[in-house]
Amino acid sequence: MNQSLIDRIDAVLPQTQCGQCGFSGCRPYAEAIAAGRADIDQCPPGDQAGIQKIAQLLGVPAKPLNTAHGLPKPYPVVALIDENLCIGCTFCIRACPVDAIVGAAKQMHTVIAAECTGCELCIAPCPMDCISLVPATKKTDDAAKKQAADIARSRHQFRQQRLERLKPADRETPQTKITQQPAPTQQSAEMRKQTIVAAALKRAAAVRAQQTSGQSANKTA
Ligand code: SF4
Ligand code: SF4
Ligand code: SF4
Repeated sequence: MNQSLIDRIDAVLPQTQCGQCGFSGCRPYAEAIAAGRADIDQCPPGDQAGIQKIAQLLGVPAKPLNTAHGLPKPYPVVALIDENLCIGCTFCIRACPVDAIVGAAKQMHTVIAAECTGCELCIAPCPMDCISLVPATKKTDDAAKKQAADIARSRHQFRQQRLERLKPADRETPQTKITQQPAPTQQSAEMRKQTIVAAALKRAAAVRAQQTSGQSANKTA
């Protein structure tokens, strides 16, 4: 493969790592374009300006965005977790391609807004539907976009290297699902939600029971 061309294409992709192009991230899409396996019009976050840059690199005419892959967002967004509803299931952390979410199992999770690319990959896996997208207060000039893309690329690479070191069973991410696994059925997604919610209710009941027994003990004393 022509690594230099891949590098140059990757350098003009937005590094959102959203998978909307049909590939598991920006780099695999760059590889596919360089190999002639993908068209230049498949990246909604890059929009028309991104297509122009790729067309220029390849010396081919630009074309309109293929909206079958989605539409560009009108303004930058970041994910926001409603921490009152979060049950700490960690599904969102496992989905985030740039490690922009912090939290531990059974504890409330938070998005690091400065690192979030707005890719939306954390939203569908959340069983509590407590992640939403909100407008981001980010600069949108070319230099700021490039800086954000470079940071997102580094964070994604770091995450990929970390996942490589894990056992195969622990590596599942939405990106691997895009390329390697069939989409989960609506029924299995519902079942998973029910299981998680049931577990959360059980934990909440245990906490309430503990509080009640603590209060009774205090009254007796
Ligand atoms: S930003 Fe999303 S759609 Fe664009 S190349 Fe990267 S992964 Fe593909
Ligand atoms: S926090 Fe959510 S929207 Fe933001 S980068 Fe991670 S997965 Fe994407
Ligand atoms: S997926 Fe939703 S409920 Fe689970 S940790 Fe993330 S925000 Fe909390």
